[in-house]
Amino acid sequence: MAGDLLIRGARVIDGTGAPWFLGDVRLHAGRIAVIAPSLPADDADILDAGGRYLAPGFIDAHCHDDLMCLREPERVEKAVQGVTTVVVGNCSFSLYPTMPRSAELLRQHFSALLGETTADEVFESFAAYREALHRRGTALNLVSLVGHAALRLAVMGYERRAATAAERATMQTLLAHQLADGAAGLSLGLVYPPSAYADDIEMVALAETVKAHGKLLTAHIRSYEAGLLEATDEFLGILRAADTPGLLSHLQSAGRPNWGAVPRALERLESARRDGLDVSFDMYPYPAGSSYVLQLLPPETLEGGLEGLLAQLRDPDRREALRRLVEEGHPDPGAAQSKIVLIGWNNVRISGTSNPALKHFEGKAMEAAAAEAGITPFDLMARFIEEDAGQTAIVMFQLAEGDLRAACTHPLHMVGSDSLPRPGTKPHPRAFGTFPRVAGRLRRDQGWFALEDAVRRMTSVAAQRFGLHDRGLVRPGMVADVVLFDDDIDDRATFDEPTQLASGVRHVWVAGEAIVADGRSTGLRPGRMLGV
Ligand SMILES: [Zn+2]
Repeated sequence: MAGDLLIRGARVIDGTGAPWFLGDVRLHAGRIAVIAPSLPADDADILDAGGRYLAPGFIDAHCHDDLMCLREPERVEKAVQGVTTVVVGNCSFSLYPTMPRSAELLRQHFSALLGETTADEVFESFAAYREALHRRGTALNLVSLVGHAALRLAVMGYERRAATAAERATMQTLLAHQLADGAAGLSLGLVYPPSAYADDIEMVALAETVKAHGKLLTAHIRSYEAGLLEATDEFLGILRAADTPGLLSHLQSAGRPNWGAVPRALERLESARRDGLDVSFDMYPYPAGSSYVLQLLPPETLEGGLEGLLAQLRDPDRREALRRLVEEGHPDPGAAQSKIVLIGWNNVRISGTSNPALKHFEGKAMEAAAAEAGITPFDLMARFIEEDAGQTAIVMFQLAEGDLRAACTHPLHMVGSDSLPRPGTKPHPRAFGTFPRVAGRLRRDQGWFALEDAVRRMTSVAAQRFGLHDRGLVRPGMVADVVLFDDDIDDRATFDEPTQLASGVRHVWVAGEAIVADGRSTGLRPGRMLGV
């Protein structure tokens, strides 16, 4: 039929992990219509795949592209990696829902993570966010989790205390509305205030709301350091109490003294599954993490938000107390470990600033940058809080290769970039390279997995987890989100040059429309917010 596309002579990787097979694939009306060893042209446009791999479009199971999908609907650096769907709203950060009094709080909260966010970029509801996306159009599909922070800010602001029964009920109602409208689940961020301030009763209550809607609970757990196993158990306990499926975000063990713990965390997940709990995890394929500068502080210091923190820094005694917490650690051994005690200032690199006067620090390690400014690293961090409103992004070199490999090759793993896109900065290269790194370097050069297994981790595993039942596989009847790529697919983004686009992806289709053709973004916007 006219308007159809016939892709001929591809090595088809179907997304299940099964070996590739040679075939022709016909796309019709936005779906995969027929797959066979050889198909007649029958009026279709023909694309000769030349033996390249044809796979389901990659699903980024964990990222923070919420804002950039609004601002840059083409999402070029993602599209040229072969990504067709992104999951946003992670780690407790989503751009909705707000109540009238919380819109400004959420705006500031989101700005800390991803740079200055404007008042019209936070939304009353999932439906309003979806509406804004669809009005602009989007190249990629989105799946959106409700961030716990938005719920708490709406009901309790930054207050560091347990919710009352009435407040819990209000948060549950607010969450239920978003889930009923199509949000994919709830994300906790238990190191990030105000999500970090919730008690078990609140988290279980919210998890029960998730369960009632048949959705997913995800968590940036309370510790990826010395407390990794306890934090894993805490999350499993919440899932168990609510009897609901879960996804543990970016499983890792940070800081040299804690290296080697990932296999034990994986055993915890396996054991929970043997008991019938449906839990899995995502992880990005790099030994460094990224966050905002406020993550270098203990969560309790953010009580009262940025204003409260600035007041602490202005008071010399409290400032000194804060310095000791950051550089010497918490006197209570049960408290969260200080990142700086664990990894040192030199393993923290400044990756993005909002204030142009601080921009020259981007790409530099904290020690070198502080020396250049003639101050201590702590005082430089304080400057980022005072002069950049805490909106400074950092990259932290903190993981062991063995742990990373154990996570990224485990059967329960799916690929999520955890990208924190911020144009004009020097972000973590995972935003530009995650998927080609998995399909290329780690598979081909380092032998971490077979290509079919790499593709499975980037497609069907996430599709299944997020309930995308007509995506994530190359199979007749599925939506035609597909990618055609070369064997030499490569991530070119490095920590020093983090914004180099990936290479080796030839064509990417979303619902049968090409968003990448011959390696370049076409500007088309056939994507949409998924979920009902
Ligand atoms: Zn996170």
